[in-house]
Amino acid sequence: MEETVKKSLNFIEEIVENDLREGINDNRLQTRFPPEPNGYLHIGHAKAICMDFGIAQRYGGICNLRFDDTNPSKEDVEYVDSIQEDIKWLGFQWGNVFYASDYFPQLWDLAVQLIKDGKAYVDEQSAEEIAKQKGTPTTPGTESPYRNRPVEENLALFAKMNTGEIPEGAMVLRAKIDMASPNMHFRDPIMYRIITSHPHHRTGTQWKAYPMYDYAHGQSDYFEGVTHSICTLEFVVHRPLYDWFIDQFADSDYRPRQYEFNRLNITYTVMSKRKMLQLVQEGLVAGWDDPRMPTICGLRRRGYTPAAIRDFINRIGYTKVDGMIDVSLLEHSIREDLKPQAHRVSALFDPIKLIITNYPEGQKEYMTTDNNPDNEAAGTREMPFGREIYIERGDFMEDAPKDFYRLTPGGREVRLKSAYIIQCTGCEKDENGQVTTVYCTYDPDTKSGTEGSKRKVKSTINWLDKDGCIEAEVRLYDRLFKVEDPAAYDGDFHDLLNEDSLEVKTALVEKHLEGAKPGDHFQFLKIGYFTVDKDSQDNKLVLNRTVSLKDNWAKK
Ligand code: ATP
Ligand code: MG
Repeated sequence: MEETVKKSLNFIEEIVENDLREGINDNRLQTRFPPEPNGYLHIGHAKAICMDFGIAQRYGGICNLRFDDTNPSKEDVEYVDSIQEDIKWLGFQWGNVFYASDYFPQLWDLAVQLIKDGKAYVDEQSAEEIAKQKGTPTTPGTESPYRNRPVEENLALFAKMNTGEIPEGAMVLRAKIDMASPNMHFRDPIMYRIITSHPHHRTGTQWKAYPMYDYAHGQSDYFEGVTHSICTLEFVVHRPLYDWFIDQFADSDYRPRQYEFNRLNITYTVMSKRKMLQLVQEGLVAGWDDPRMPTICGLRRRGYTPAAIRDFINRIGYTKVDGMIDVSLLEHSIREDLKPQAHRVSALFDPIKLIITNYPEGQKEYMTTDNNPDNEAAGTREMPFGREIYIERGDFMEDAPKDFYRLTPGGREVRLKSAYIIQCTGCEKDENGQVTTVYCTYDPDTKSGTEGSKRKVKSTINWLDKDGCIEAEVRLYDRLFKVEDPAAYDGDFHDLLNEDSLEVKTALVEKHLEGAKPGDHFQFLKIGYFTVDKDSQDNKLVLNRTVSLKDNWAKK
């Protein structure tokens, strides 16, 4: 019997397949990714990107990038540039780049039309007064005293809102819908507000009145021909208003339709641009690309790959229920991706000298080592080996308990990885009792890869030849916050910062790393995955810990 393997569709894919089958909107599929350029993209945006671009790709549609730049007070070209870089890095390509600000003239004309139709008015009340009149979901709101002013007056005031003579906050344009609607968003929503304090990053000071999200977003979708306007669940309650605005102006049967999926929240971090900006501005992190940040550029610098991020998004899927995803799942994805590609190298965080007393002085040999035992194509390298090497301090113990299988004077035999079996004979200490040198003998008949290498020993340890290593700065990153859900905390979020989220050390690493470039990945044997940082210089290597080999957080 023939077996067909079919990956189950997520609910949005089901909708799209169905719409295409039924010929909705002339069989077209068009999506958009609509970031506001007021910060860097984070891993939550990656979820939206994988959906918006992914679904267009899968079903032969088009996905455009649209900058939702309707609030100049927080927006900047710096963000526009970084957003484009991050989308491309994630592996996606847009059809066109659009800007909501390009539609300001059209949006203005439609607003004028709505005023003429008696469906919009200029309100001169303060934001507080307007808020007070909103009512509650169970009690109707109160109509503004300006609600029924004549069309001519509205037109004149609306024009004035855009000349600069009206101060910020003094007037807004509101749609005249229904102050008693059970949907609070229908209670005369604000369409335009005045912003004079910040020039717009594209239109400068040309505009003083700027459209609000609910009005601009749906219209922009309509202007562009979007068919599936996919966003997150908090917009479910906005959808009727989205439809209402479009219905006011639509001149054909075509309609964009909004669909919502669950936002991504990850444990031990914050995913709001406002909070991330605060971390950056207060110097609590080293910038938007600090490797502890949940930003795409931070993850990239930390050593995350586009494939790992896409794999993670694929694993969590899309539903209609908000929740919290354990960061260990993201860590799992990067381990899986790096395992077959990162070269496995020796690195010692607390090195101690070891002298092999029966190894001929001045002799050097070269131990052939697989760059990645899981991947033959990664090739091999030669590690120098001689009488004087370094090992990790923790692999030696002077007075060891019986079950200590590593080096201790008179103790068991231990294998030096890819080299020989050795046995400890003693050690030397400084005046503080700190061990400075470990002495061993080796068995020349036990070289790895030879017949004698088959002898069983209880443990294998890593080492570096004194001529085969270089120093490197290693930055050990941990979770930025001490609690799973910092966003749920009412108090000062500074209380929740993990003071130990960065530890800087000097390590000894294999010479193999010399000349490595920012972004190169390595597995430090028994320790974790590390990525070369952009702070590296010709004579100084800096590496970031991407993730430890095993999840050690649970143990703490
Ligand atoms: P913030 O609240 O951090 O400013 P935002 O939602 O305002 O985020 P936008 O730039 O408006 O950020 O978002 C662009 C798109 O990315 C929107 O469609 C939004 O729904 C989606 N998005 C933002 N955050 C997440 C998230 N955590 N999970 C999934 N999608 C997200
Ligand atoms: Mg937003």
